[in-house]
Amino acid sequence: SGALIEEFEKEIKSMGLDKEIEVLRTGCLGLCGAGPNISIYPDNIIYKGVKKEDVKEIVQEHLYKGRPVERLMLNESDQETKEIHDISHTRFYQKQKRVALHNCGIIDPENIEEYIGQDGYFALGQVLSQMTPQEVIDIIKESGLRGRGGGGFPTGLKWQFAYNEPGDEKYVICNADEGDPGAFMDRSILEGNPHSVIEAMVIAGYAIGAHYGYIYIRAEYPIAVERLKTAIAQAKELGLLGTNIFDSGFDFDLEIRLGAGAFVCGEETALIQSIEGERGMPVSKPPFPAYKGVWGKPTIINNVETYANIAQIILNGADWFRSIGTESSPGTKVFALGGKITNTGLVEVPMGTTLREVIYEIGGGCPNHKQFKAVQTGGPSGGCLTEEQLDTPIGFDELVKLGSMMGSGGMIVLDEDNCMVDVARFYMDFIVDESCGKCTPCRVGTKRMLELLEQICDGQGTMETLDELETLAMTIKDTALCGLGQSAPNPVLSTIHQFRDEYLAHIIDKR
Ligand code: SF4
Repeated sequence: SGALIEEFEKEIKSMGLDKEIEVLRTGCLGLCGAGPNISIYPDNIIYKGVKKEDVKEIVQEHLYKGRPVERLMLNESDQETKEIHDISHTRFYQKQKRVALHNCGIIDPENIEEYIGQDGYFALGQVLSQMTPQEVIDIIKESGLRGRGGGGFPTGLKWQFAYNEPGDEKYVICNADEGDPGAFMDRSILEGNPHSVIEAMVIAGYAIGAHYGYIYIRAEYPIAVERLKTAIAQAKELGLLGTNIFDSGFDFDLEIRLGAGAFVCGEETALIQSIEGERGMPVSKPPFPAYKGVWGKPTIINNVETYANIAQIILNGADWFRSIGTESSPGTKVFALGGKITNTGLVEVPMGTTLREVIYEIGGGCPNHKQFKAVQTGGPSGGCLTEEQLDTPIGFDELVKLGSMMGSGGMIVLDEDNCMVDVARFYMDFIVDESCGKCTPCRVGTKRMLELLEQICDGQGTMETLDELETLAMTIKDTALCGLGQSAPNPVLSTIHQFRDEYLAHIIDKR
Protein backbone atom coordinates (compact mmCIF):
# COMPACT_ATOMS: atom_id res chain seq x y z
CA SER A 1 0.00 0.00 0.00
CA GLY A 2 2.85 2.33 0.79
CA ALA A 3 4.26 1.90 -2.71
CA LEU A 4 0.82 2.51 -4.21
CA ILE A 5 0.45 5.80 -2.37
CA GLU A 6 3.66 7.08 -3.94
CA GLU A 7 2.57 5.84 -7.34
CA PHE A 8 -0.83 7.55 -7.06
CA GLU A 9 0.76 10.81 -5.96
CA LYS A 10 3.14 10.66 -8.92
CA GLU A 11 0.42 9.90 -11.47
CA ILE A 12 -2.02 12.46 -10.08
CA LYS A 13 0.68 15.09 -10.27
CA SER A 14 1.61 14.15 -13.80
CA MET A 15 -2.04 14.57 -14.85
CA GLY A 16 -2.15 17.98 -13.15
CA LEU A 17 -4.82 16.83 -10.69
CA ASP A 18 -2.84 17.37 -7.51
CA LYS A 19 -4.69 20.57 -6.60
CA GLU A 20 -8.04 18.76 -6.61
CA ILE A 21 -7.23 15.23 -5.49
CA GLU A 22 -5.60 14.16 -2.26
CA VAL A 23 -4.20 10.72 -1.46
CA LEU A 24 -4.78 9.67 2.16
CA ARG A 25 -3.99 6.66 4.27
CA THR A 26 -6.95 5.24 6.17
CA GLY A 27 -7.56 2.26 8.37
CA CYS A 28 -9.08 -1.06 7.33
CA LEU A 29 -11.98 -0.97 4.89
CA GLY A 30 -12.97 -4.44 5.95
CA LEU A 31 -12.11 -6.56 2.97
CA CYS A 32 -8.53 -7.22 4.03
CA GLY A 33 -8.14 -10.38 1.98
CA ALA A 34 -8.62 -8.45 -1.26
CA GLY A 35 -6.13 -5.69 -0.43
CA PRO A 36 -4.53 -3.39 -1.20
CA ASN A 37 -7.86 -1.60 -1.51
CA ILE A 38 -8.29 1.92 -2.82
CA SER A 39 -11.42 3.88 -2.04
CA ILE A 40 -12.39 6.79 -4.29
CA TYR A 41 -14.44 9.59 -2.74
CA PRO A 42 -16.94 11.06 -3.19
CA ASP A 43 -17.83 8.34 -5.72
CA ASN A 44 -17.61 5.68 -2.97
CA ILE A 45 -16.04 3.10 -5.23
CA ILE A 46 -13.54 0.58 -3.94
CA TYR A 47 -10.87 -0.98 -6.11
CA LYS A 48 -9.52 -4.27 -4.83
CA GLY A 49 -6.19 -5.99 -5.23
CA VAL A 50 -4.68 -2.92 -6.85
CA LYS A 51 -1.17 -3.29 -8.21
CA LYS A 52 1.34 -0.62 -9.10
CA GLU A 53 0.70 -1.17 -12.80
CA ASP A 54 -3.04 -0.45 -12.32
CA VAL A 55 -2.49 3.02 -10.90
CA LYS A 56 -2.06 4.79 -14.23
CA GLU A 57 -5.34 3.38 -15.54
CA ILE A 58 -7.29 4.36 -12.41
CA VAL A 59 -5.92 7.90 -12.51
CA GLN A 60 -6.40 8.40 -16.24
CA GLU A 61 -9.74 6.66 -16.63
CA HIS A 62 -11.51 7.26 -13.36
CA LEU A 63 -9.99 10.38 -11.83
CA TYR A 64 -9.41 12.24 -15.09
CA LYS A 65 -12.20 11.01 -17.37
CA GLY A 66 -14.74 9.95 -14.72
CA ARG A 67 -15.02 6.39 -16.05
CA PRO A 68 -14.62 3.80 -13.25
CA VAL A 69 -12.34 0.86 -14.05
CA GLU A 70 -14.84 -1.96 -13.80
CA ARG A 71 -12.35 -4.82 -13.91
CA LEU A 72 -10.82 -3.69 -10.60
CA MET A 73 -13.99 -2.83 -8.78
CA LEU A 74 -14.80 -4.60 -5.55
CA ASN A 75 -16.79 -7.78 -6.13
CA GLU A 76 -17.95 -6.56 -9.48
CA SER A 77 -19.91 -9.77 -9.97
CA ASP A 78 -21.60 -9.21 -6.63
CA GLN A 79 -22.85 -5.76 -7.46
CA GLU A 80 -26.63 -5.71 -7.35
CA THR A 81 -26.68 -3.98 -10.68
CA LYS A 82 -23.90 -2.63 -12.80
CA GLU A 83 -25.41 0.83 -12.39
CA ILE A 84 -25.04 0.92 -8.65
CA HIS A 85 -21.41 1.40 -7.79
CA ASP A 86 -21.96 2.39 -4.18
CA ILE A 87 -20.06 -0.09 -2.00
CA SER A 88 -22.95 -0.47 0.42
CA HIS A 89 -24.72 -2.34 -2.38
CA THR A 90 -22.08 -5.02 -2.63
CA ARG A 91 -22.85 -8.26 -0.89
CA PHE A 92 -19.89 -7.88 1.42
CA TYR A 93 -21.26 -4.66 2.92
CA GLN A 94 -25.00 -4.97 2.38
CA LYS A 95 -25.81 -6.84 5.60
CA GLN A 96 -23.24 -4.99 7.67
CA LYS A 97 -23.83 -2.12 10.03
CA ARG A 98 -20.89 -0.12 11.20
CA VAL A 99 -21.10 1.24 14.74
CA ALA A 100 -17.80 0.26 16.36
CA LEU A 101 -16.07 0.46 12.98
CA HIS A 102 -17.72 3.82 12.29
CA ASN A 103 -15.22 5.98 10.39
CA CYS A 104 -12.68 3.13 10.01
CA GLY A 105 -11.40 3.17 6.46
CA ILE A 106 -12.98 6.57 5.90
CA ILE A 107 -11.01 9.08 7.95
CA ASP A 108 -7.28 9.56 8.21
CA PRO A 109 -6.56 8.11 11.67
CA GLU A 110 -3.54 10.36 12.07
CA ASN A 111 -5.51 13.55 11.64
CA ILE A 112 -7.67 14.54 14.61
CA GLU A 113 -9.44 17.16 12.51
CA GLU A 114 -10.95 14.45 10.34
CA TYR A 115 -12.31 12.71 13.44
CA ILE A 116 -13.67 16.00 14.76
CA GLY A 117 -15.16 16.69 11.32
CA GLN A 118 -17.24 13.51 11.75
CA ASP A 119 -18.68 14.57 15.15
CA GLY A 120 -15.61 13.32 16.99
CA TYR A 121 -15.31 14.48 20.63
CA PHE A 122 -18.84 15.86 20.35
CA ALA A 123 -20.11 13.15 22.71
CA LEU A 124 -17.42 14.10 25.21
CA GLY A 125 -18.39 17.76 24.97
CA GLN A 126 -22.03 16.83 25.52
CA VAL A 127 -21.17 14.65 28.52
CA LEU A 128 -18.98 17.26 30.21
CA SER A 129 -21.32 20.17 29.62
CA GLN A 130 -24.76 18.64 30.05
CA MET A 131 -24.66 15.38 31.96
CA THR A 132 -23.90 14.21 35.47
CA PRO A 133 -21.74 11.09 35.88
CA GLN A 134 -24.81 9.10 36.95
CA GLU A 135 -26.66 10.20 33.80
CA VAL A 136 -23.78 8.92 31.67
CA ILE A 137 -23.85 5.58 33.47
CA ASP A 138 -27.62 5.41 33.12
CA ILE A 139 -27.55 5.86 29.36
CA ILE A 140 -24.92 3.12 29.01
CA LYS A 141 -26.99 0.84 31.25
CA GLU A 142 -30.18 1.61 29.30
CA SER A 143 -28.41 0.88 26.02
CA GLY A 144 -27.80 -2.70 27.17
CA LEU A 145 -24.20 -2.61 25.90
CA ARG A 146 -22.36 -5.76 26.94
CA GLY A 147 -18.58 -6.17 27.03
CA ARG A 148 -17.29 -7.12 23.61
CA GLY A 149 -14.12 -8.79 24.92
CA GLY A 150 -15.92 -12.10 25.28
CA GLY A 151 -17.50 -12.07 28.73
CA GLY A 152 -20.56 -10.08 27.74
CA PHE A 153 -20.87 -8.42 31.16
CA PRO A 154 -23.15 -5.33 31.11
CA THR A 155 -20.85 -2.34 30.68
CA GLY A 156 -23.06 0.18 32.47
CA LEU A 157 -23.28 -2.07 35.51
CA LYS A 158 -19.51 -2.37 35.65
CA TRP A 159 -19.24 1.42 35.53
CA GLN A 160 -21.89 1.71 38.25
CA PHE A 161 -19.93 -0.56 40.60
CA ALA A 162 -16.78 1.55 40.18
CA TYR A 163 -18.77 4.80 40.53
CA ASN A 164 -20.33 3.59 43.78
CA GLU A 165 -16.93 2.97 45.34
CA PRO A 166 -15.73 5.84 47.54
CA GLY A 167 -12.49 7.73 46.92
CA ASP A 168 -11.19 9.85 44.07
CA GLU A 169 -8.34 7.60 42.95
CA LYS A 170 -9.84 5.33 40.32
CA TYR A 171 -8.65 4.06 36.96
CA VAL A 172 -9.92 3.34 33.47
CA ILE A 173 -8.22 0.62 31.45
CA CYS A 174 -8.57 -0.31 27.81
CA ASN A 175 -7.77 -3.95 27.19
CA ALA A 176 -6.15 -4.01 23.74
CA ASP A 177 -4.22 -7.22 24.38
CA GLU A 178 -5.93 -9.05 21.57
CA GLY A 179 -4.34 -12.48 21.47
CA ASP A 180 -6.79 -15.01 20.00
CA PRO A 181 -5.40 -16.70 16.90
CA GLY A 182 -7.18 -15.21 13.91
CA ALA A 183 -8.54 -12.15 15.73
CA PHE A 184 -7.77 -8.64 14.51
CA MET A 185 -10.86 -6.62 15.40
CA ASP A 186 -9.28 -4.42 18.06
CA ARG A 187 -6.18 -3.85 16.00
CA SER A 188 -8.28 -2.60 13.10
CA ILE A 189 -10.30 -0.23 15.28
CA LEU A 190 -7.14 1.24 16.80
CA GLU A 191 -5.45 1.53 13.43
CA GLY A 192 -8.53 3.00 11.77
CA ASN A 193 -10.06 5.22 14.44
CA PRO A 194 -7.95 5.53 17.61
CA HIS A 195 -9.74 8.67 18.80
CA SER A 196 -13.01 6.75 19.26
CA VAL A 197 -11.32 4.76 22.03
CA ILE A 198 -9.60 7.75 23.62
CA GLU A 199 -12.84 9.77 23.66
CA ALA A 200 -14.69 6.85 25.25
CA MET A 201 -12.04 6.43 27.94
CA VAL A 202 -12.35 10.09 28.94
CA ILE A 203 -16.14 9.70 29.09
CA ALA A 204 -15.69 6.56 31.23
CA GLY A 205 -13.29 8.45 33.50
CA TYR A 206 -15.83 11.22 34.00
CA ALA A 207 -18.59 8.68 34.65
CA ILE A 208 -16.81 6.74 37.39
CA GLY A 209 -14.72 9.60 38.79
CA ALA A 210 -11.30 8.53 37.46
CA HIS A 211 -8.59 10.85 36.24
CA TYR A 212 -6.14 8.42 34.75
CA GLY A 213 -6.25 5.62 32.23
CA TYR A 214 -4.08 2.93 30.67
CA ILE A 215 -4.29 1.43 27.21
CA TYR A 216 -2.73 -2.01 27.51
CA ILE A 217 -1.79 -3.05 24.00
CA ARG A 218 0.40 -5.79 22.60
CA ALA A 219 3.72 -4.65 21.26
CA GLU A 220 3.11 -6.80 18.17
CA TYR A 221 0.71 -4.11 16.91
CA PRO A 222 3.25 -1.43 15.95
CA ILE A 223 0.96 0.55 13.61
CA ALA A 224 -1.83 0.66 16.18
CA VAL A 225 0.65 1.77 18.86
CA GLU A 226 2.06 4.53 16.66
CA ARG A 227 -1.41 5.79 15.71
CA LEU A 228 -2.48 5.76 19.34
CA LYS A 229 0.60 7.77 20.31
CA THR A 230 -0.16 10.29 17.57
CA ALA A 231 -3.81 10.47 18.59
CA ILE A 232 -2.99 11.00 22.26
CA ALA A 233 -0.53 13.78 21.41
CA GLN A 234 -3.06 15.49 19.14
CA ALA A 235 -5.84 15.22 21.72
CA LYS A 236 -3.56 16.75 24.35
CA GLU A 237 -2.64 19.58 22.04
CA LEU A 238 -6.31 20.47 21.55
CA GLY A 239 -7.09 20.22 25.27
CA LEU A 240 -9.17 17.07 24.87
CA LEU A 241 -6.91 15.19 27.25
CA GLY A 242 -5.12 16.58 30.28
CA THR A 243 -6.34 19.26 32.66
CA ASN A 244 -9.61 21.16 32.54
CA ILE A 245 -10.97 19.40 29.43
CA PHE A 246 -13.45 21.62 27.52
CA ASP A 247 -13.13 24.14 30.41
CA SER A 248 -15.21 21.76 32.47
CA GLY A 249 -12.78 21.49 35.37
CA PHE A 250 -12.46 17.74 34.65
CA ASP A 251 -8.93 16.32 34.32
CA PHE A 252 -8.06 13.07 32.60
CA ASP A 253 -4.84 11.72 31.18
CA LEU A 254 -3.77 8.34 29.90
CA GLU A 255 -0.76 6.35 28.90
CA ILE A 256 0.02 3.36 26.73
CA ARG A 257 1.42 0.20 28.31
CA LEU A 258 2.93 -2.35 25.95
CA GLY A 259 2.26 -6.02 26.54
CA ALA A 260 5.01 -8.48 25.72
CA GLY A 261 2.76 -10.92 23.92
CA ALA A 262 1.50 -13.18 26.72
CA PHE A 263 -2.03 -14.33 25.88
CA VAL A 264 -2.88 -14.59 29.57
CA CYS A 265 -2.37 -10.84 30.02
CA GLY A 266 -5.71 -10.36 28.27
CA GLU A 267 -7.25 -11.79 31.45
CA GLU A 268 -8.08 -8.71 33.51
CA THR A 269 -6.36 -9.59 36.77
CA ALA A 270 -3.17 -10.65 34.92
CA LEU A 271 -3.35 -7.43 32.91
CA ILE A 272 -3.50 -5.41 36.14
CA GLN A 273 -0.51 -7.30 37.53
CA SER A 274 1.39 -6.53 34.35
CA ILE A 275 0.55 -2.80 34.52
CA GLU A 276 1.83 -2.79 38.10
CA GLY A 277 5.15 -4.18 36.88
CA GLU A 278 4.58 -7.71 38.16
CA ARG A 279 4.66 -10.91 36.14
CA GLY A 280 1.33 -11.16 34.32
CA MET A 281 -0.44 -13.90 36.24
CA PRO A 282 -4.14 -14.09 37.10
CA VAL A 283 -5.26 -13.80 40.71
CA SER A 284 -8.50 -15.19 42.02
CA LYS A 285 -11.64 -13.07 42.04
CA PRO A 286 -13.34 -11.59 44.04
CA PRO A 287 -12.42 -8.84 44.67
CA PHE A 288 -13.31 -7.72 41.16
CA PRO A 289 -11.35 -4.85 39.59
CA ALA A 290 -14.34 -2.49 39.87
CA TYR A 291 -13.77 -2.66 43.65
CA LYS A 292 -10.05 -3.30 43.83
CA GLY A 293 -8.15 -3.04 40.59
CA VAL A 294 -4.90 -1.42 39.53
CA TRP A 295 -2.88 -0.12 42.50
CA GLY A 296 -5.66 -1.57 44.70
CA LYS A 297 -8.10 1.12 43.52
CA PRO A 298 -11.49 0.82 41.79
CA THR A 299 -10.86 0.19 38.09
CA ILE A 300 -12.95 -0.47 35.04
CA ILE A 301 -11.52 -2.58 32.26
CA ASN A 302 -13.27 -2.65 28.90
CA ASN A 303 -11.99 -3.85 25.60
CA VAL A 304 -11.39 -1.74 22.49
CA GLU A 305 -14.63 -2.61 20.72
CA THR A 306 -16.71 -1.87 23.81
CA TYR A 307 -15.20 1.62 24.01
CA ALA A 308 -15.70 2.14 20.28
CA ASN A 309 -19.49 1.96 20.87
CA ILE A 310 -19.62 4.54 23.68
CA ALA A 311 -19.57 7.85 21.78
CA GLN A 312 -22.14 6.53 19.31
CA ILE A 313 -24.48 5.61 22.18
CA ILE A 314 -24.12 9.06 23.75
CA LEU A 315 -24.71 10.78 20.42
CA ASN A 316 -27.61 8.66 19.21
CA GLY A 317 -29.20 7.55 22.47
CA ALA A 318 -29.83 4.28 24.26
CA ASP A 319 -33.03 3.57 22.31
CA TRP A 320 -31.18 3.84 19.01
CA PHE A 321 -28.61 1.32 20.21
CA ARG A 322 -31.32 -1.01 21.51
CA SER A 323 -33.06 -0.81 18.15
CA ILE A 324 -30.07 -2.68 16.67
CA GLY A 325 -29.46 -6.31 17.55
CA THR A 326 -31.49 -8.51 19.87
CA GLU A 327 -33.22 -8.03 23.21
CA SER A 328 -30.45 -9.73 25.21
CA SER A 329 -27.55 -8.62 22.99
CA PRO A 330 -28.20 -5.11 21.66
CA GLY A 331 -25.94 -3.45 19.10
CA THR A 332 -23.53 -4.96 16.64
CA LYS A 333 -20.52 -7.26 16.79
CA VAL A 334 -17.28 -7.08 14.87
CA PHE A 335 -15.88 -10.37 13.61
CA ALA A 336 -12.55 -11.18 12.04
CA LEU A 337 -13.65 -13.60 9.35
CA GLY A 338 -10.87 -15.91 8.27
CA GLY A 339 -9.89 -19.46 7.38
CA LYS A 340 -11.48 -21.20 4.39
CA ILE A 341 -13.63 -18.30 3.31
CA THR A 342 -13.81 -16.36 0.06
CA ASN A 343 -13.93 -12.89 1.59
CA THR A 344 -11.42 -12.75 4.42
CA GLY A 345 -11.91 -9.59 6.39
CA LEU A 346 -13.38 -7.53 9.10
CA VAL A 347 -17.15 -7.69 9.38
CA GLU A 348 -19.56 -5.82 11.65
CA VAL A 349 -23.13 -7.09 11.79
CA PRO A 350 -26.16 -6.43 13.99
CA MET A 351 -26.48 -9.06 16.71
CA GLY A 352 -29.15 -11.51 15.64
CA THR A 353 -27.68 -11.87 12.15
CA THR A 354 -27.27 -15.59 11.51
CA LEU A 355 -23.93 -17.31 11.10
CA ARG A 356 -25.14 -18.44 7.68
CA GLU A 357 -25.60 -14.85 6.56
CA VAL A 358 -22.11 -13.96 7.75
CA ILE A 359 -20.43 -16.97 6.17
CA TYR A 360 -22.32 -17.22 2.88
CA GLU A 361 -23.74 -13.78 2.10
CA ILE A 362 -20.92 -11.63 3.48
CA GLY A 363 -18.06 -14.11 3.41
CA GLY A 364 -19.00 -15.67 0.07
CA GLY A 365 -18.75 -19.25 1.41
CA CYS A 366 -15.78 -21.60 1.08
CA PRO A 367 -13.57 -21.02 -1.95
CA ASN A 368 -12.85 -23.58 -4.69
CA HIS A 369 -16.30 -25.18 -4.34
CA LYS A 370 -15.22 -26.94 -1.18
CA GLN A 371 -17.84 -28.04 1.29
CA PHE A 372 -18.25 -26.13 4.52
CA LYS A 373 -17.50 -28.24 7.57
CA ALA A 374 -17.53 -26.03 10.66
CA VAL A 375 -16.98 -22.55 12.00
CA GLN A 376 -14.82 -21.97 15.06
CA THR A 377 -15.89 -19.01 17.17
CA GLY A 378 -14.37 -17.73 20.38
CA GLY A 379 -10.81 -18.81 19.56
CA PRO A 380 -9.06 -21.11 22.04
CA SER A 381 -11.91 -20.62 24.52
CA GLY A 382 -14.69 -21.32 22.07
CA GLY A 383 -15.96 -24.19 20.03
CA CYS A 384 -17.05 -25.38 16.62
CA LEU A 385 -20.48 -25.04 15.10
CA THR A 386 -21.72 -27.19 12.26
CA GLU A 387 -23.81 -26.68 9.13
CA GLU A 388 -27.03 -27.52 11.03
CA GLN A 389 -26.33 -24.74 13.52
CA LEU A 390 -25.66 -21.98 11.01
CA ASP A 391 -29.15 -20.50 11.31
CA THR A 392 -28.43 -19.58 14.90
CA PRO A 393 -28.74 -15.84 15.46
CA ILE A 394 -25.51 -14.35 16.75
CA GLY A 395 -25.69 -13.31 20.39
CA PHE A 396 -23.81 -13.86 23.64
CA ASP A 397 -26.22 -16.41 25.06
CA GLU A 398 -27.22 -18.15 21.84
CA LEU A 399 -23.70 -19.37 21.00
CA VAL A 400 -23.00 -20.51 24.56
CA LYS A 401 -26.15 -22.67 24.44
CA LEU A 402 -24.62 -24.49 21.47
CA GLY A 403 -21.36 -25.21 23.30
CA SER A 404 -19.37 -22.40 21.70
CA MET A 405 -19.08 -18.73 22.56
CA MET A 406 -18.89 -15.47 20.70
CA GLY A 407 -15.59 -14.58 22.36
CA SER A 408 -13.93 -11.42 21.22
CA GLY A 409 -14.84 -12.04 17.57
CA GLY A 410 -12.46 -14.45 15.86
CA MET A 411 -14.45 -16.52 13.34
CA ILE A 412 -12.51 -19.21 11.50
CA VAL A 413 -14.24 -21.18 8.79
CA LEU A 414 -13.17 -24.77 8.14
CA ASP A 415 -13.93 -26.86 5.08
CA GLU A 416 -13.99 -30.54 4.14
CA ASP A 417 -10.18 -30.69 4.03
CA ASN A 418 -9.76 -29.74 7.69
CA CYS A 419 -9.33 -32.51 10.24
CA MET A 420 -11.22 -31.50 13.38
CA VAL A 421 -8.87 -33.44 15.67
CA ASP A 422 -6.04 -31.43 14.20
CA VAL A 423 -7.98 -28.23 14.86
CA ALA A 424 -8.39 -29.25 18.51
CA ARG A 425 -4.69 -30.09 18.70
CA PHE A 426 -3.78 -26.68 17.26
CA TYR A 427 -5.72 -24.82 19.96
CA MET A 428 -4.40 -27.05 22.73
CA ASP A 429 -0.85 -26.49 21.53
CA PHE A 430 -1.52 -22.75 21.72
CA ILE A 431 -2.89 -23.03 25.27
CA VAL A 432 0.03 -25.13 26.51
CA ASP A 433 2.35 -22.41 25.23
CA GLU A 434 0.30 -19.64 26.80
CA SER A 435 -0.60 -21.18 30.17
CA CYS A 436 1.03 -19.02 32.83
CA GLY A 437 1.78 -22.11 34.94
CA LYS A 438 0.32 -20.81 38.17
CA CYS A 439 -2.21 -23.57 38.79
CA THR A 440 -1.73 -27.30 38.35
CA PRO A 441 -4.89 -28.21 36.39
CA CYS A 442 -3.94 -25.84 33.59
CA ARG A 443 -0.16 -26.17 33.72
CA VAL A 444 -0.06 -29.98 33.85
CA GLY A 445 -3.54 -30.85 32.62
CA THR A 446 -3.40 -29.03 29.29
CA LYS A 447 0.02 -30.52 28.60
CA ARG A 448 -1.39 -33.98 29.20
CA MET A 449 -4.38 -33.19 26.99
CA LEU A 450 -2.00 -32.22 24.20
CA GLU A 451 -0.08 -35.48 24.62
CA LEU A 452 -3.33 -37.45 24.34
CA LEU A 453 -4.38 -35.50 21.24
CA GLU A 454 -1.00 -36.17 19.67
CA GLN A 455 -1.35 -39.87 20.41
CA ILE A 456 -4.72 -39.89 18.67
CA CYS A 457 -3.41 -37.93 15.69
CA ASP A 458 -0.43 -40.28 15.40
CA GLY A 459 -2.67 -43.34 15.32
CA GLN A 460 -1.54 -44.46 18.78
CA GLY A 461 -4.78 -43.59 20.52
CA THR A 462 -7.37 -46.03 21.88
CA MET A 463 -10.89 -45.62 23.22
CA GLU A 464 -9.30 -45.30 26.67
CA THR A 465 -7.24 -42.37 25.36
CA LEU A 466 -10.41 -40.65 24.23
CA ASP A 467 -12.09 -41.33 27.60
CA GLU A 468 -9.10 -39.94 29.47
CA LEU A 469 -9.11 -36.87 27.24
CA GLU A 470 -12.76 -36.16 28.02
CA THR A 471 -12.41 -36.76 31.75
CA LEU A 472 -9.35 -34.55 31.95
CA ALA A 473 -11.08 -31.82 29.97
CA MET A 474 -14.01 -31.77 32.39
CA THR A 475 -11.67 -31.72 35.39
CA ILE A 476 -9.68 -28.75 34.05
CA LYS A 477 -12.89 -26.86 33.31
CA ASP A 478 -13.95 -27.27 36.92
CA THR A 479 -10.67 -26.65 38.68
CA ALA A 480 -8.44 -24.20 36.75
CA LEU A 481 -7.91 -20.85 38.41
CA CYS A 482 -8.72 -18.40 35.63
CA GLY A 483 -10.88 -18.15 32.54
CA LEU A 484 -8.03 -19.16 30.25
CA GLY A 485 -7.67 -22.58 31.88
CA GLN A 486 -11.38 -23.05 32.54
CA SER A 487 -12.21 -22.53 28.87
CA ALA A 488 -9.12 -24.22 27.42
CA PRO A 489 -10.83 -27.63 27.00
CA ASN A 490 -13.74 -26.11 25.03
CA PRO A 491 -12.35 -26.70 21.49
CA VAL A 492 -11.60 -30.33 22.40
CA LEU A 493 -14.96 -30.99 24.02
CA SER A 494 -16.79 -29.25 21.23
CA THR A 495 -15.04 -31.20 18.47
CA ILE A 496 -15.53 -34.50 20.33
CA HIS A 497 -19.20 -33.65 20.67
CA GLN A 498 -19.73 -32.52 17.08
CA PHE A 499 -17.20 -34.66 15.23
CA ARG A 500 -16.73 -37.78 17.32
CA ASP A 501 -16.56 -39.85 14.14
CA GLU A 502 -13.34 -38.07 13.17
CA TYR A 503 -11.73 -38.98 16.50
CA LEU A 504 -12.90 -42.56 16.03
CA ALA A 505 -11.53 -42.62 12.50
CA HIS A 506 -8.06 -41.77 13.84
CA ILE A 507 -8.34 -44.48 16.48
CA ILE A 508 -9.82 -47.18 14.28
CA ASP A 509 -8.21 -46.45 10.89
CA LYS A 510 -4.67 -46.18 12.09
CA ARG A 511 -4.59 -49.22 14.31
FE1 SF4 B 1 -2.38 -19.58 34.72
FE2 SF4 B 1 -3.77 -21.42 33.35
FE3 SF4 B 1 -4.03 -21.29 35.97
FE4 SF4 B 1 -5.00 -19.31 34.42
S1 SF4 B 1 -5.71 -21.42 34.50
S2 SF4 B 1 -3.86 -19.10 36.32
S3 SF4 B 1 -3.44 -19.32 32.79
S4 SF4 B 1 -2.12 -21.79 34.87
